[in-house]
Amino acid sequence: FVRSDFLDLPQYSPIQPLDVVAAEVGVPIERLAKLDANENLYGPMPEVIEAVRNTEYMHIYPDPAQTYLRQDLAKYIGGSIGPEHICAGVGSDELLDLLIRLVEPGAGIVSAPPTFGMYSFLGKIARSQVLEVPRINAPAFDLDVDGIIDQVDNHNGKLVFIASPNNPTGGLMTEDQVRKICAHNCILVVDEAYAEFSGGSAVGLMDEFPNLVVLRTFSKWAGLAGLRVGFSVAHPKLTEKLLSIKQPYNINVATEAAARAALRVKDKIVEEHIKPILAERTRMLVLLQEFAWLTPVPSVANFVLFKVNAPMDAGTLHKELRRRGVLVRYYPKGALAGYIRISCGRPRDTDLLLDAMRDLDVPAT
Ligand code: PMP
Repeated sequence: FVRSDFLDLPQYSPIQPLDVVAAEVGVPIERLAKLDANENLYGPMPEVIEAVRNTEYMHIYPDPAQTYLRQDLAKYIGGSIGPEHICAGVGSDELLDLLIRLVEPGAGIVSAPPTFGMYSFLGKIARSQVLEVPRINAPAFDLDVDGIIDQVDNHNGKLVFIASPNNPTGGLMTEDQVRKICAHNCILVVDEAYAEFSGGSAVGLMDEFPNLVVLRTFSKWAGLAGLRVGFSVAHPKLTEKLLSIKQPYNINVATEAAARAALRVKDKIVEEHIKPILAERTRMLVLLQEFAWLTPVPSVANFVLFKVNAPMDAGTLHKELRRRGVLVRYYPKGALAGYIRISCGRPRDTDLLLDAMRDLDVPAT
């Protein structure tokens, strides 16, 4: 009885637990550099861990209206944004899924690859029409705004997903591009999973465009990928609908406590995690200049995409780094074949990366 198009559907992301990777490659967990998923390797702040530890009312269902969390999130975003603009989800992934289910079944979902794979993955599962408008001018990977608008105007594109900064190419969408797309008959979702690293946000355009949705997450800057919390900022009418179609108890009490505690110590997270991670991005870029066969794509996020040139190849590099306990993201096929993405971590993670790189056997040219 399973849908025929599901028969050969692969798992979205077969991420392996760290202990499994450690056992497989024979490197102790503390010597692994997990630079494959853009997480904050410093982990949550002690205040956040303490808040989770002190979570009360685990035996009572959580507040389906997310009252306190939405108030805190609105304050965090600031400006004219109030709780009526906010809906929290189980990671921003849940919001992507809710948005896809909010539009008419079968409507067009526009995505601009290479980008975050969940847009087309969730679109296919929901039987949406997935409309891909490839980015142009590799390795600049610019948005083809006219191509996107053509899908909206002429091919039933109802929901446009753009990551800004884009994962994995690392660049921002401009305000002008947001304005151009929002002027057409669609919902534009600007996925700002990495905004705390890049600065800048489309959220300032919210009052002007009722069809603009901004997504944020605690997975990257706040070190809470494992607790799963993200949120949307959107027009109150759209937000009301997201709140009505979500699972009533989607945000569990421990996650709510963690997210609210992270907001209380946000300035400390900026000083102790975000700034050092950005400094590590610079340091990694300088150190990797030693390897002339690696070309970085400029990034404003906590990761860098690299083109891997001869005599090395991306598949070998991924495999050989992994053997040495350094995990990076590899794209076996598509527009990013020949590239790898490396997340920026702590100084020790860059050190482990550099040690592993220096240990490689690079074929002679
Ligand atoms: N959007 C983008 C662009 C991402 O890169 C990611 C994480 N890889 C997500 C959303 C998902 O974030 P979350 O953990 O909040 O579901």
